[in-house]
Formats: sequence, structure tokens, C-alpha cells
Amino acid sequence: YTKKYSKNSCSLFSHELNKETADRLTIERELKSAVRNDEFLIHYQPIIDLSSGKPSAMEALIRWNHPELGMVPPDRFIPVSEESGQIIAIGKWVLFTACSQTKKWQNQGYAPFRICVNISTIQLQHPNFVQLVKSVLEETGLDAKWLELEVTESILLEDTEILKESLRKLKALGISMSIDDFGTGFTSLNYLRQFSFDRVKIDRSFVQDINSDLNGKAITSTIITLAHKLGMEVVAEGIEDSVQLSYLVKELCNEGQGYYFCRPQAADNHDFFVEIKK
Ligand code: C2E
Ligand code: MG
Ligand code: MG
Ligand code: MG
Repeated sequence: YTKKYSKNSCSLFSHELNKETADRLTIERELKSAVRNDEFLIHYQPIIDLSSGKPSAMEALIRWNHPELGMVPPDRFIPVSEESGQIIAIGKWVLFTACSQTKKWQNQGYAPFRICVNISTIQLQHPNFVQLVKSVLEETGLDAKWLELEVTESILLEDTEILKESLRKLKALGISMSIDDFGTGFTSLNYLRQFSFDRVKIDRSFVQDINSDLNGKAITSTIITLAHKLGMEVVAEGIEDSVQLSYLVKELCNEGQGYYFCRPQAADNHDFFVEIKK
């Protein structure tokens, strides 16, 4: 029985592995032409100030509209691009496009808001990254105070001098920094103390758990208290209903983001600006 069972599961496994490898290679190959062919776009999702109820920021989320594969979600191609190094060119495009779109919105008379751009560790470790951010701000004319870079906790594991130096230089430019998916990684409290991150974003798995049991409540309120005591603000990700929202408001979470407010949308869909038009 064991033999038969393991044989079946083994062949299933290798079949899936082959398919996964093939998909990965296709994606890596196709990514090469994607920047050149203008196949990427950015969807923007508002982040709401929970005390005023008004949008205070917008997260830029990349989308890949492939001619045959259709919309490829970032979770399927960002990890591949990180391994192949293509993330450098893609990340540059995202940063430039998001900053120039934000400047455009400001020029059109919308009340200014932060633009939050996801940055992978590979980008942050690239020797020219700080210079890139500086020149994107210069070229687009966006004031540094409106740019926020979101990094995941994994960067905090890379306790290197190069990384610390980059973080210091980025802060010196006047931009803000946040830790994305907070609570899912292994942040050393010592590291949090050494570096002045402006915000943490509570991972949406904890926000979702607010409804299901007591742990979601305990974890979210503990993160809020910890962050506030360390002088940081808190954004809750993935708010989907009013129960989660009320709990986060009660616990003094600063900002929230999620389908309850608005799904990520293309830049030319101005619906989500109605409230903040000056
Ligand atoms: P993230 O930075 O944590 O972004 C939040 C994700 O949660 C987005 O998924 C967003 O669409 C989704 N989301 C927002 N509200 C809700 C909600 O209420 N419920 C649920 N279930 N989901 C919600 P998306 O757009 O698929 O992006 C996935 C991840 O891909 C991002 O997670 C980020 O880590 C990465 N990513 C996206 N754009 C970029 C980029 O330009 N550069 C890099 N390096 N990574 C990116
Ligand atoms: Mg993010
Ligand atoms: Mg993320
Ligand atoms: Mg996140």
C-alpha cells in the first residue's frame, strides 16, 4: 500500500515540478520583452486615514498584461524577476511611472497624498539604488516627502553595512519607509530600534483573523501598541468588512487599506478621487 501510494504521489509531484519549471522559464523569457513592449501597468489602491476617513496615500501595484497569458499577477512574476535580475529594470519603471503619475495628479489639482512603492531587497542592495530614487524625484519633480518605499521584513535579516548605509541615505533624501506584511517575518526588535521606519503595515492575514478568533485581535492590537511606542504609524492591510474596520479604529490604527474601501484600479479611473478633489 505504502509503495503504491508513494509512487503515485511521487509521479504527481514530479509532473507538477516540471510544469512549474516550464512556467517559470516561459515567464522569465517573456519578461525580457515585456518592458520593451510596454506590457506592464500599475493599479493604484487608496490608503485611508482612519481618523478622517479620507485617502492619505495610494499604493502602486504592478500588473502584467501579457498578449497570450492575459493578466499575470505580481506573485507569479516578481519572484522570477528577482531571481533573474530583471527586477532592476522593472522596479525602475514602476518607481518612475508611479512618481510621475502622482506628480500629474498634483498638477491636476488633487490634494496631495503619499505614493507607496513596493521595493524588493534586490533593488535595495543595488549600488545605484539611492541615486536612482534621487534622479526619479528630480526628473518627475515630485517632492520627496510624498514618496514612501515599502520593504518586507526579510531585508531586516540582511544586517549588512551596505543596506544600513542605503537606508540612511534614503531617509536623508526626505522620503519615508515602511515595513510591508509586518508580523509574517522575523523582525528583530533591535533592528526596529536602530532604523527609523515611519510605518509598519500589518499583514492582511492578521486583519482577516480579527473576525475568526481572538488571536487576530490580540496580534493586531499588540502590533499597533508596539509600533506606536517605537514612534511608528500603523497601516492595516486587507480590510474587507466593517467589523475589522471598527476594531482597528477602536485600537487607534492610523490608516487602512482593503477591498472594503476600494480595489486597486487603473490611474485613469478617477472614481476614488471624488472625495479628495480640492
Ligand atoms: P503587498 O505589497 O502586500 O500588496 C497588497 C496586496 O493585497 C495586493 O495584491 C492587493 O491587491 C491585495 N489586497 C488589497 N486589499 C485587499 C483585500 O481587502 N483583500 C485581499 N484579499 N487582498 C487585498 P497584488 O496586487 O496581487 O500584489 C501582491 C504582491 O506583489 C504585493 O503585496 C507586493 O509584495 C508585490 N508587488 C506588487 N507590485 C510590486 C512592485 O511594483 N514591485 C515589487 N517588488 N513587488 C510588487
Ligand atoms: Mg505593499
Ligand atoms: Mg509585499
Ligand atoms: Mg503587504
